[in-house]
Amino acid sequence: MAPSDLLRPALLAAARSPRMERTVTKIPVTRNLVDRFVAGETENQAVAATTDILGSGRYISIDYLGEDTTDVAQASGTVSHYLTLLSALSQFTQDGEKNTASFPPSSVRNVEVSLKLSALGQFLPRDGHKVALENAHKICAAAEEAGAWVTVDAEDHTTTDSTLSIVGELREDFPSLGTVLQAYLKRTEADCKDLSGPGSRIRLCKGAYKEPASVAYQGKAAVDDAYLRCLRILMNGQGYPMVASHDPVMVEAALQFAEAKGRTADEFELQMLHGIRDTEQHRLIAEQRHLRVYLPYGQEWYGYFMRRLAERPANLAFFLRSLAST
Ligand code: FAD
Repeated sequence: MAPSDLLRPALLAAARSPRMERTVTKIPVTRNLVDRFVAGETENQAVAATTDILGSGRYISIDYLGEDTTDVAQASGTVSHYLTLLSALSQFTQDGEKNTASFPPSSVRNVEVSLKLSALGQFLPRDGHKVALENAHKICAAAEEAGAWVTVDAEDHTTTDSTLSIVGELREDFPSLGTVLQAYLKRTEADCKDLSGPGSRIRLCKGAYKEPASVAYQGKAAVDDAYLRCLRILMNGQGYPMVASHDPVMVEAALQFAEAKGRTADEFELQMLHGIRDTEQHRLIAEQRHLRVYLPYGQEWYGYFMRRLAERPANLAFFLRSLAST
């Protein structure tokens, strides 16, 4: 077993530990590494980063950080942040796409927001499903008005059924709504088959949470194989696949599957996280590929940051070296 396979579960468990959060967020040097992955804590910083990213020819998906909320007021606060953000983002959206609920649109939307339903109240002990649905509905309506897309992130497997059901309900009013499927879940091949019909927008990622072997493939080789199977289904389907991976093998496979299926550059997109494989992002843009950057901002960066550490031991080593040198 690779050292990273041993470290990953520990880091992902720490990502959900309030005690570890209190410790890690107090270390001054943490901030330097967080800045690599997160646009900043304020909406102005997110908008400034958006200007740079769109200016480079890449598209954007912005996430207001936060997850696992069990407080109604906090969930409403998250909605307010998205509404303010979307109003600011409308300056970047393409003309002619505002107020159109039709899908597919005449062209790809350059601006998207990503949301986590657990930040919108999905885990509330009473009416969680209903509150998250209503909150997400408000954000989707504001995004339509602003000419932006919305995609719902995937969280741990206990939320998948509820998330896909909320997405299904929202798509009745907002057909362009996208969602994320995680290739490491054993159910996902079937979900890809179900959700690759006309008008669908599916972001395929490998999956970033600590999941048991009963529901998820374990180890890189099995997850990579699953990703390729799911990718083929989406590329052969009738929707708009969004290929979220930094893995050169997955990116190359996406380009090959798309070509074999006769998909033009407008009929799928590649996606990467802010701060990861930047040179490769620019290379793909130079090749006229659609490439969207997932850009998180806000104060609740801890869980997101720990998942990035878990993905790559080199990030953790860098973090520990920085700590040692302070
Ligand atoms: P890996 O095999 O993990 O990595 C391949 C290569 O990419 C590595 O060798 C390295 O060079 C580079 N790399 C990968 N991660 C890092 C890192 N953290 N730091 C530096 N280099 C790195 N997961 C969810 O569970 N739910 C979501 O909603 C979700 N949304 C996502 C949206 C986007 C746009 C992207 C790109 C990822 C998202 N993820 C999400 C995360 C995803 O599930 C993976 O955890 C993450 O992308 C790493 O997998 P990989 O495909 O890049 O392949």
